[in-house]
Order: sequence, then C-alpha cells, then structure tokens
Amino acid sequence: MLFERPADDTLYDALIARSADYEGQIYVCVKTTGIFCRLTCPARKPKRENTLFFDTIAACMHSGFRPCRRCKPLEQAGREPVVDELLARLDNEPELRWTEDELVRRGYDPSTVRRAFKRAFGMTFHDIVRYRRLGEAARQLADGARVIDAQIDAGYESPSGFRAAFQRLIGKPPALSQNRELLFADWFDTPLGPMIAVADKTHLHLLEFHDRRALPTELEALQKRVRSSVAIGRTPAIDQIEAEIRDYFEGRLTAFKTPLALGGTPFEKHVWTKLIEIPSGQTRAYGDLAREMLRPEAVRAVGRANGANQFAIIVPCHRILGADGSLTGYGGGLWRKQWLLRHEEKMREQATAMEETA
Ligand SMILES: [Zn+2]
Repeated sequence: MLFERPADDTLYDALIARSADYEGQIYVCVKTTGIFCRLTCPARKPKRENTLFFDTIAACMHSGFRPCRRCKPLEQAGREPVVDELLARLDNEPELRWTEDELVRRGYDPSTVRRAFKRAFGMTFHDIVRYRRLGEAARQLADGARVIDAQIDAGYESPSGFRAAFQRLIGKPPALSQNRELLFADWFDTPLGPMIAVADKTHLHLLEFHDRRALPTELEALQKRVRSSVAIGRTPAIDQIEAEIRDYFEGRLTAFKTPLALGGTPFEKHVWTKLIEIPSGQTRAYGDLAREMLRPEAVRAVGRANGANQFAIIVPCHRILGADGSLTGYGGGLWRKQWLLRHEEKMREQATAMEETA
C-alpha cells in the first residue's frame, strides 16, 4: 500500500512526541537553523511555524537544508556499506573535489556508487556533494549578512564578509561560451536586509532576499533554463530595480517598471501576472486567484506557482493570505511578509489621505 502522508499538524505532534511512526518516511526541516531531522531527533524541538515536512531526503536537501549532526538523517540501517563509508569521508574531507576520477583513485567503482546511492536516497553521491556545497554557500551568505549588520551597528561600513560569501555563491566569473548572453548578479541593501538581483542587460531574471533557503537551487535552475552562466556585475536592469526598490521602501512607488524575464510554464506566468494585478495595500487568497483564472479547482497549483516565483516584492506573492486571513508561508520569512503588508497598508492610507485633501 502506498504511504499516505498525514497532515502537517499530525506530523508536528509526532515530532514533539519523538514518535518513530514515520521513521524513514517523513523528515522535518527547521527554517530557523537550515537543518533537517528525523522526527525522533533528541534535539530541542522547533516551533510549529518554523517547520516544513518533506517525504524525501532529496526534497530537504534540494530546498537548501543540511542534515542534522545529532540524529543523522542520512544514516539508515541495512544499507550498502559503501554509502556510509563515502558519507563519512565526505564529512571528514568536505573541501575535497569529489569527482568521478577521485572516486576511482580511491578504489571505488563509480557505477556501483551511483546505484547504491540511488537506492538509498533516490539521488546520486554527486547530487549530495553538490547540495552540501550549495547549502554551505547559503549558510555563509546568511552569516555574511549578519556580519554586515554587526559592522553597521559598530559604525563600520565594510561588507567584506558578505561580499566574499556572495562571490562563493555566484562562483567564478565564467568564460563566455556558446555565444550565450551572460547574466549578471549583484546585491543591494534594503531595510529588510540585502537583496540579490540577477539580470541580463535589459531584463531582470531574479530578485530575492539573500537568505532565502532555495536561492542556491534557484540560481542553478535559472542558469540551466537560460543556458547561460551568472557572473558578478551590474547591468542597467539591476540599476533600475535597485532605484525602484529604494523608492518602494521610501513609500514613493507601488508599481514596478523594470522589465521582467518571466520564466516558467504558461500556467505559472498566468498566476504571476494575476499576482502583479493585486493592488498594493490589498490581499487575496489562493482560492480568489484560482477563481479569477476560471480554474477554481486549481487552488493547489496556484499555490505551487506562487512558491516558484523568483521576484520577491515585484511579483507580490506576499499579498496572498490563507483563506482564513492567516499569514501562511513566505519564502523570505514571515516577519518580512508582515513588514511588507504593513508598509503597503501605510502607503495606501497616505495615498487616500492625499486624495481627500486634494
Ligand atoms: Zn536532528
């Protein structure tokens, strides 16, 4: 019989009870620490709003979470020894470049390794190496941002820690190849922390808060989709969005004009266009959007498209609330969602007051 996934509330109860009922079938990701655990983990339990439940290790790692060092979710009984051996080596030598040649040099047969890992995790050893690297880059970026905050607090203005982490995330400047237009990435500060912008000369491809967990995988997917690479640098589109975002935070702008390169499926594009149509200072529920699109049955698909949006603030997925008016989730963190909604509410009140006095 297929495993039927229980509701998140049931899973959270199991997490608090350290129940083994879902061992090997469900993992919990903790948003505040960037770590994922077995539900049985002996460590202190996170608050309900900081948890995400996934049914595979691959999904946890793909979302940028790292395995917990206490409950070691990657370790499972009855597995081929080569898997545990390589995971231990990876822990001991995280800096090593774990290429196929390196495996051969250490006496492993790459195809045996591939099959063993696929059986154990549904992903290859190289996938695990890659996700670990990306997760580490994201963690350093978040740490770097805290360094900036600390430096600004202390009266210094050198964001060198953040810049170094940003460079590690974006990687080395790639060689121009295949006549593809290169994408450029840069960051700028906002009252809610640094934002990362990726653009070609004319269009913005991504705008996210620096600590969004999925940012490293989003960057990878973007490069794959446009068959190009990202280098550190500025384009007019980045200058334009930086100016517009500054105006937005200063309460002078509610509609963005920077041209967007909306990737995604036709359905996703339709959802994003609908999101952009929600006026600043107002909110909607997924169900409202689905009904407006004449697809009332597609509420969940609308939710997924909402989550796949790569333009924080501009494609305003923060204006989506639960059917009961609750805040629900937000990729950039609920505190930011709350802040943005309050800010837009204030802007709307000011605009109304201006109209009345005019
Ligand atoms: Zn744990």
